[in-house]
Amino acid sequence: MTELSDPTEYLSLSYSSLNLADTCMRKFEFNKLYPRRPRDSDAFAADVGTALHHGYQDFLVNQDLEKAIWELMKSYPYGSEFYQRTDERSLEACISTLEEMTHDANMTEWEIINIKRPLTNAEREANNDSFNRFGPPIFDESGVVVPAIEVPFALRLKGIVLPDGRGVEFTGFMDAALRHRATGDVRTMDIKTHRRTLVDATPKYKFDGQQVPYGIVLEHLTGNPVEEFEVLYLDTYIDLVTPRVQLYPFRKDPDDLQEWLVNTVLQVQRIQRAAEMDYFPRTNGGCMSWNRPCYFLDVCESRDKEAITEWMLMGEAPEQRPRESPWIIAEIDVFGSEGNA
Ligand code: SF4
Repeated sequence: MTELSDPTEYLSLSYSSLNLADTCMRKFEFNKLYPRRPRDSDAFAADVGTALHHGYQDFLVNQDLEKAIWELMKSYPYGSEFYQRTDERSLEACISTLEEMTHDANMTEWEIINIKRPLTNAEREANNDSFNRFGPPIFDESGVVVPAIEVPFALRLKGIVLPDGRGVEFTGFMDAALRHRATGDVRTMDIKTHRRTLVDATPKYKFDGQQVPYGIVLEHLTGNPVEEFEVLYLDTYIDLVTPRVQLYPFRKDPDDLQEWLVNTVLQVQRIQRAAEMDYFPRTNGGCMSWNRPCYFLDVCESRDKEAITEWMLMGEAPEQRPRESPWIIAEIDVFGSEGNA
């Protein structure tokens, strides 16, 4: 694995998009390979989760509940709340939940690891400290030192090339990287916010691979080999009256990383083959998700690319999401050589 400094064209695949491809290749195609309209209010639950992330992450850095609530309030999707007319994820419910998170998972014995990330163009021009929401930054031309919170990363899979010439990269955001103040042990964390009523979520997280590649990110972040580390899931039930926070920690080692890599390569090769055939098959497993029909049920009948694009956009301009520049880019030689199987 080596650092790269020359990003070329890559198809970015995340943990969730690979899982989507496992569920239905056609749905993956619709979501990842066609232009889409800008997001609408369906993103309310996700936006509420983001606001809670911001509040709790601020608490991890500053250990100041009032400031954390302020961060939550700044990020809360007020407009969507009115549209949804729901109080399950109201601002009050989120504040109550954040209080529970900071009480049950205050992590005072852990410190956030620092990372030097690249400056953005705007930061270079502004040359001030307004870009660090966690406090005064330390920066120079080579980057800015910030707490390792919401760390965007890209792991490029060397040897896999799509028919259009693009490479493939596995991308994601690490919610937080922490070091134990006494033992020096390292831990990564993922915050899960939801309204599920599962009593014990161990089966959900025990072999979940989302945080396994964070071991590679940790190595780059600390500059040291990481033989073993802890992944922590902060499982958070959002509620006004009875919010609930449960911690699920698991140890990960090189065997887990190897398994993640094998799985990821198999998933990506399947996508690569479908792209080569220009044919993403429909699922055999039915088209319901969360007790709702698939959003693409009608358009799924068609294989006409123009008609599908028209349906996707419905006269609107495609969404242009600015791509987050990864703070850490690593290349993984998945075949152990230059070749592609
Ligand atoms: S309608 Fe069914 S086959 Fe088509 S994308 Fe949705 S889940 Fe897949």
